[in-house]
Amino acid sequence: MTPRYVILGSGVAGIAAAEAIRLNDPRGEITVVSDDPHGYYSRPGLAHFLTGEIPQAQLFPMREAELHALGLRRVQGRAIRLDPLEHRVTLADASELVYDRLLLATGATASRAPVPGAELPEVVKLDNLEDARRLIDLARHARAAVVIGGGITALEIAEGLRAHCRRVHYLLRGDRYWGSVLDATESAIVMARLAADGIQIHTRTETAEIVGKRGHVAGIVTTDGRRIPCDLVALAVGVTPRVELARTAGLQIDRGILADEYLLTAAADVFAAGDVAQVHDPRTGAALLDTLWNVARSQGAAAGRNMAGRRVPYAKPMPLNVTRLAGITITIIGAVGRWPDADMVGIGRGDSEAWRQLRDAPVAEDKHEVNRLRLLVGPRTLLGAVVMSDQAASRSLQRLIGEQTDITPIRERLLTPGAPIAALIAEHAAAALH
Ligand SMILES: Cc1cc2nc3c(=O)[nH]c(=O)nc-3n(C[C@H](O)[C@H](O)[C@H](O)COP(=O)(O)OP(=O)(O)OC[C@H]3O[C@@H](n4cnc5c(N)ncnc54)[C@H](O)[C@@H]3O)c2cc1C
Repeated sequence: MTPRYVILGSGVAGIAAAEAIRLNDPRGEITVVSDDPHGYYSRPGLAHFLTGEIPQAQLFPMREAELHALGLRRVQGRAIRLDPLEHRVTLADASELVYDRLLLATGATASRAPVPGAELPEVVKLDNLEDARRLIDLARHARAAVVIGGGITALEIAEGLRAHCRRVHYLLRGDRYWGSVLDATESAIVMARLAADGIQIHTRTETAEIVGKRGHVAGIVTTDGRRIPCDLVALAVGVTPRVELARTAGLQIDRGILADEYLLTAAADVFAAGDVAQVHDPRTGAALLDTLWNVARSQGAAAGRNMAGRRVPYAKPMPLNVTRLAGITITIIGAVGRWPDADMVGIGRGDSEAWRQLRDAPVAEDKHEVNRLRLLVGPRTLLGAVVMSDQAASRSLQRLIGEQTDITPIRERLLTPGAPIAALIAEHAAAALH
């Protein structure tokens, strides 16, 4: 009988799984279910769409013909129930799909903020393309906007709003931006750039209430009694994996859906990948959450291979993000920080719990204006790195940290104040290649 594969979610994990299944099983019946009318597009690209740097059409990584060539049955709808014993999924329109193998690739959604007034219509989040379009639309008519939250998304929203709206306030509970990943110097670089871009940063500021007038946002009131008038509030306090289907189906859940190194969940023939999954890493024994495009892609591909009958363990890549914060390119690799983060509930988008696994480690650092290099130096290997602006050392560091290369020959020199860190790294990476 032709195997029936059902994939819930048309994000990068779902589509990577479909590609891998098709590669390994040319005849299998693959159904992809998604409640997003826009299908598969780049979520990291939404930040550039928000600022107007790219048009909507550029968000789509695959042409229609390429998707068509995969021979998928695409169903638009919302899955509302999973019955793992019957191997059956029910959609919101009461239709049912029977599967031999199922992938849960339903991603994560913006966490709610427990602030009175958060239900007002101009309180927005940034999960998907419709959210981005709505943000642009609201920003064009807004006199002032307030952004609350931390991590990459809050900043991307603030910059996106600034492109359309004259006055943007960014509220931080603590003294500085993204304190669980960036150090004080790095935060200061980002905050100075934000301020130079005209964004008003309010540190040590907590929102007590979002105030409405005739059913619309009129401003916020802070816990110390200040009022900031605005007609739009964006919340980015973290994301929550969409685990409801798995929970009601009796699968094992921690923060995400627990999956083994074959991406298999506690239910037979049910796999999980991407932002929704919390995948066991046999190397470390840990199961950490990542909300990274490349991780979702590689997990989706691994799940697809295993759904199609291969038995290949998933090798977790080193969590890495090359992103842009306030116009500054920044690469984050490996363990660079620690919890907690006053502005976040759990992790944000483009983030990894692995970045906050830092043990006590000496730091090698270098800074020339906005060019910043910070290395966390372990006894024999590098544990992590943050590279800001000048990215010359980025690739070498990705290799040295990802491959856990022995750095003992340069360790002492790296930790000598004033050391030419970038040059030492480049030389050592080149030597390690030979
Ligand atoms: C604004 C933004 C910026 C980001 N920046 C970065 C970055 O800089 N670097 C980086 O690496 N990553 C970044 N990310 C994160 C990255 O995009 C995600 O890690 C990745 O998209 C996860 O892929 P996924 O397939 O697991 O989930 P998603 O892409 O979220 O896809 C899940 C899909 O499932 C569908 N779905 C959910 N529930 C159901 C249901 N019940 N029934 C049917 N369909 C359902 C959803 O509609 C969606 O189509 C960013 C994300 C956003 C939103």
